[in-house]
Amino acid sequence: MSKFLGYRCSLCQKEYLPGQVQYTCSCGGNLDVTLDIPALKKKYQPDDFLFREDASLWRYLPLIPTSFPKAGEDTPLHLAGGTPVISLPRLAKQNGLEHLWLKDESRNPTASFKDRASAVVVARAQEIGAEVIVTASTGNAGAALAGMAAAVGQKAVIFAPKNAPPAKIAQLLVFGAKVILVDGSYDDAFDLTIKAANEFGWYCRNTGYNPFTLEGKKTAAYEIWAFTRHLMGRKGRTQELTEPVNKERLTLFVSVGDGNIISGIHKGFKELHALGWLGQIPRLMGVQAQGSAAIANTFQRGGESILPVSAQTLADSISVDLPRDGIRAVRAARETGGEYLTVSDAEILAAIAELGKVGVFAEPAGATAYAGMVKAKARQLINSETPVMILNTGSGLKDVRAAMQAVAPAPVIEPTLQAVKRLL
Ligand SMILES: *Cc1c(COP(=O)(O)O)cnc(C)c1O
Ligand SMILES: [Zn+2]
Repeated sequence: MSKFLGYRCSLCQKEYLPGQVQYTCSCGGNLDVTLDIPALKKKYQPDDFLFREDASLWRYLPLIPTSFPKAGEDTPLHLAGGTPVISLPRLAKQNGLEHLWLKDESRNPTASFKDRASAVVVARAQEIGAEVIVTASTGNAGAALAGMAAAVGQKAVIFAPKNAPPAKIAQLLVFGAKVILVDGSYDDAFDLTIKAANEFGWYCRNTGYNPFTLEGKKTAAYEIWAFTRHLMGRKGRTQELTEPVNKERLTLFVSVGDGNIISGIHKGFKELHALGWLGQIPRLMGVQAQGSAAIANTFQRGGESILPVSAQTLADSISVDLPRDGIRAVRAARETGGEYLTVSDAEILAAIAELGKVGVFAEPAGATAYAGMVKAKARQLINSETPVMILNTGSGLKDVRAAMQAVAPAPVIEPTLQAVKRLL
């Protein structure tokens, strides 16, 4: 594993060798995995990745600090990532945009973006011989861990808040994880998980704590880079979209809770830039729910101190009192010329309905990115020529109760033609 050099603290810059630390820096800061970029640059070209047969995130294995996960070849674990990018011409027009794409992370094996993180953490757990993996989760991280662990016969324990959406809890149970519902918030589950991991010697996947979640999440950036490269090829353009096109850079909208997804995507782009394969890093726009906006608050206030809020939003996947990856998430927008936006639950529900009308079924946190894009356009943070991509981070089937709030109920009629006529 010569490509995996160790870790660097995102706060104090202290460096560690791979075996010296497992989770966070002695100062409490989150760790970035460091790769041997010069060695990778010498050994690989973009085409080594762009034309590989593996469609999953393991296509980028040389840039991921684990070995290939064992046990089986086409298990859900091995199929994480490789999600499609679709074009949304009608929604583009409706919002006065020339280009609007959606990367559909609901197509991951357990139907959310979290599969990327869990796949890489499970691979890491196998490598270090961990017997049990544990995570705190609002639902999706747990479902992803439970599913990926089940795929390779690894034991998983999940702590989730007891009011997580039933579909997510069903996933945890069906995947055979040990599910413990906590009478409290996600933040309570988070702290309890770390205590339990220390007490019982379990390997902890917690978001914004275990450095390998970011290593999985960054693979979405690699795929977006590959998409823009292929698009350039198809359309015979001379510039990639990540270079200025009509002075515009690709602008990416990401929903933000703990801040680990947007931080991971930022890291992925930074690595491609360091490898010399990406000219300009896309602009990263973070979108939070108004009722759970600790990171957006810091972004607007300036500085890097993240103050907890008392989170209240129907978008459960991004409902977080104290974001665990807030600082890197603030930097992701600041360093790329991006922004943070906040949207109300009503705007999130409207976004579910709008995406639904073009055939995309998003859970509330997934639709949040679209709601933020609509707001950014209204505020002229993007203009009609800006190439825009939104991320749908999770499937609408994850939270049917919220979906039903986004639409009018269906009428119930007697089974007669007359009744149909009366209705129409
Ligand atoms: C976890 C999650 C997010 C937010 O990711 P963070 O890393 O917590 O910012 C967004 N959408 C969905 C569907 C998620 O499950
Ligand atoms: Zn530190």
